[in-house]
Amino acid sequence: MTIRLDIVTAEQLVFSDDVDIVVAPGIDGELAVLPRHAPLMTMLQPGELRLRKGGEETLMAITGGFLEVRPDRVTVLADAAERAEDIDAARAEEAKRRAEERLSGKVSEADAARAEAALRRSLLRLRVAEKRRRRRSEL
Ligand code: ATP
Repeated sequence: MTIRLDIVTAEQLVFSDDVDIVVAPGIDGELAVLPRHAPLMTMLQPGELRLRKGGEETLMAITGGFLEVRPDRVTVLADAAERAEDIDAARAEEAKRRAEERLSGKVSEADAARAEAALRRSLLRLRVAEKRRRRRSEL
């Protein structure tokens, strides 16, 4: 038994397929959704999203959004979502450096909150890219 998973952003359909399980970064912690999961709606926080289809696991970085479970499908509306292999680590390093630089100076509360969110996204991307790199070197 499988469940249909659609991951969409404002820009594109990032993923659409039948999967065995999806584990998403819910606002209250990791949320595992299997076929026949009870309907629910929750916000997501920036974090890892993992899905499995057959024997294969796909790792993604997701920067927040919503997740809805209906009887036959899961829909993720994501702020941004990237598969681990599509993450540009150099770009994330640069985003991290910029955010840290902003935070080290004198900034308004609003700018600090924005820089902190950018820092969190960059650290997430670096973590997910690194996790994939480690896994591949273990194979
Ligand atoms: P940057 O400052 O590098 O743009 P950001 O955190 O501000 O980073 P987002 O606003 O979260 O970027 O995302 C904008 C778009 O760029 C999204 O489509 C997202 O998937 C993509 N994106 C952002 N950073 C990366 C990255 N390091 N590798 C691949 N895609 C990325």
